[in-house]
Amino acid sequence: SDSHFPVPLFPSQFDYSLHYPHFFPASSEHDSSKRIQFADIGCGFGGLLVSLSTLFPDTLMIGMEIRDKVTEYVKERILGLRATNPGQYQNISVVRTNSMKYIPNYFGKGQLRKMFFLFPDPHFKEKNHRRRVISPHLLDEYAYALAEGGIIYTITDVEELGEWMKGCLEDHPMFEVLGDEELEADPVVKLLSSATEEGQKVARNGGQTFRAIYRRITP
Ligand code: SAM
Repeated sequence: SDSHFPVPLFPSQFDYSLHYPHFFPASSEHDSSKRIQFADIGCGFGGLLVSLSTLFPDTLMIGMEIRDKVTEYVKERILGLRATNPGQYQNISVVRTNSMKYIPNYFGKGQLRKMFFLFPDPHFKEKNHRRRVISPHLLDEYAYALAEGGIIYTITDVEELGEWMKGCLEDHPMFEVLGDEELEADPVVKLLSSATEEGQKVARNGGQTFRAIYRRITP
């Protein structure tokens, strides 16, 4: 249950020096205004974070994952990468949390530039739709955490869930769809499938994927 993992009461309580010691050395001066800008929600084994880390080496990123063992695996994976590649992979970290409950505890208003919801659990049954990580109510929270112009990336191999996520985003007043040219120009879009463990699995099995990628706007 939730009582097994600590949750910051508010974003400034989050211990940046613990997660990003290279950027927040205990003794010397550091830029205390530097904040997490990318969040991978339900990050699983962390493949996306690892790929994004070298693509945006100065951007702080966090994976949020509810499974304890998976979170520990990602932690070890990052520490291993840091050890074998000195100076690299310092900008990524992971936290065990329930993202459906605690997003506002981690991120302040307009803090994030990118949020990822890649191959989330489908929760097929109608009565379980409230457990989906994209919903009208949760989109209000994500809109709060995202900066104006920030981007929300979703992808799934479950067509019905893809339609659901797209519908929620389309109906929300604070999101607008990205055009084809923008999607083509964004290097991150290609990683949604190629860098995630789940995306690789779907590709191996020749499965289809359904994307919905939207920008946070002020209506
Ligand atoms: N995004 C990864 C990928 O594409 O490889 C993992 C996809 S996996 C199918 C979905 C992940 O979301 C699982 O690791 C699961 O534990 C996590 N998850 C489910 N509900 C969550 C929640 N409320 N908070 C955080 N993580 C959650």
